[in-house]
Amino acid sequence: MLAAPKRARRDRLDPVAGEAIAAPAAPAAALRAVPAVGALLALPEARRLVEGFGHPRVRAAARQVLADERLRLRAGRPPRGPGQLLRALAAGVGTGLTPPLRRVVNGTGILLHTNLGRAPLSAAAAAAVAEVAAGYSTLELDLGTGRRGDRRSLLEALLCQVTGAQAATVVNNGAAAVLLACAALGQGRAVLVSRGEAIEIGGGFRVPEILACAGAQLVDVGTTNRTRVDDYRRASGPDTAAWLRVHPSNFRSIGFVGRPSVAELAAAARAADVLLLVDAGSGLVGPAAGPTALEESLPALVAAGADLVMGSGDKLLGAGQAGILAGRGPVVERVARHPLARALRADKLQLAALQATLLAHVTPGRRAEIPVLRMLALEPEALARRVDRWVAALARDGIAAEATPAVGAIGGGTTPGPQLPSVALRLPTARPARLRTRLLAGEPAVLARAAADAVTIDARTVLPDEDGPLLAAVRRASGHG
Ligand SMILES: *Cc1c(COP(=O)(O)O)cnc(C)c1O
Repeated sequence: MLAAPKRARRDRLDPVAGEAIAAPAAPAAALRAVPAVGALLALPEARRLVEGFGHPRVRAAARQVLADERLRLRAGRPPRGPGQLLRALAAGVGTGLTPPLRRVVNGTGILLHTNLGRAPLSAAAAAAVAEVAAGYSTLELDLGTGRRGDRRSLLEALLCQVTGAQAATVVNNGAAAVLLACAALGQGRAVLVSRGEAIEIGGGFRVPEILACAGAQLVDVGTTNRTRVDDYRRASGPDTAAWLRVHPSNFRSIGFVGRPSVAELAAAARAADVLLLVDAGSGLVGPAAGPTALEESLPALVAAGADLVMGSGDKLLGAGQAGILAGRGPVVERVARHPLARALRADKLQLAALQATLLAHVTPGRRAEIPVLRMLALEPEALARRVDRWVAALARDGIAAEATPAVGAIGGGTTPGPQLPSVALRLPTARPARLRTRLLAGEPAVLARAAADAVTIDARTVLPDEDGPLLAAVRRASGHG
């Protein structure tokens, strides 16, 4: 490919004066050193691009990058190293150095990290997704009759078993569940919300705005810190469709505060002939999340008499993204028949993940398979032993590291209060921000926390099969290997 030395020489001559221009270093040698397309594509990062984007696209981009490189060299610019060429290649392919959606090692200690896709699936759930993804499925086929089935009720029996509800359906996510419930049950009518619960969850989910989108009229009741059953009663009229109770997922008010229990509200709502809707959202990843979480669990809310409970598949159950609606038969029926239900429906991969996770929830002894529940239950002593193994392995490579106490969280706006005592790998460095960035840019990417004089990686959220990749990534980011 490099028949170019002669031309390169000519290029170096000033056409007017006929003599060499103030010469940039050895273009001929530099041109000979430009790798061949095949050599560039054989580098690991380029192979990953090929995996992500296909050979033709990456090869075409590689040709362009190398042609540009020769032009640059002839123009007297310094040669670029393999790293820079790969970056240009990735840019040429159209995105970052590697496919934009890829695996990240979670070193934050936050179990349901929304930026990292919340709950990792269990092996069984991941296998169920792969199985359904790779073939045709019973998504909308009733095998008993051979007729069209209904995906809206596909998981109903399992959901009823988990929640104790009469009926249930699934939509795309928790926000969709709330929107759909308010549209189907409250459109054109009033929905009452306590002033302490007209909240913002994050990511653009604000209760007043969701109600407006649903075409329901929000009526505030009570005060910011205290709301009583009587506040709901007095504000209710013939136009009132429902009382909406919202779990204050991501904040906590303390002091002179109070609100009625769901059971009290349910009894009063029934007497007032309005529906009680409960947005449980998050609040629970299992009994291990503590007594408050238990009170707000789907079965507890259903048992307390809520007409409809809405929740988030990942934040409540440790499944993938999904929105769960469970409650009384006629109420769920109205919701499932609303035209928005079609627009907000779940896809087969979500349903496969949810089904497998629900099965683990209802099968004795299998809940520990659910990764967020397993990670939540890890004891600091076990985490410390694991970090000690990492420290020893890194020491063999001459990398200084130590175990340090850390504090994680359930996250996902589940519980602002209880934090998780944990253990982290501490990598001392004078430039923590730089090391954190290098860990992010690695393969696999590692999301760590930067402190004043170190970077820390919480062991709780590093999955069991990630020890090797994590240590390799730390070695590379620290300049070893
Ligand atoms: C998280 C949350 C939602 C939204 O659920 P997504 O699954 O994230 O769409 C709604 N309500 C509450 C109370 C939440 O905590």
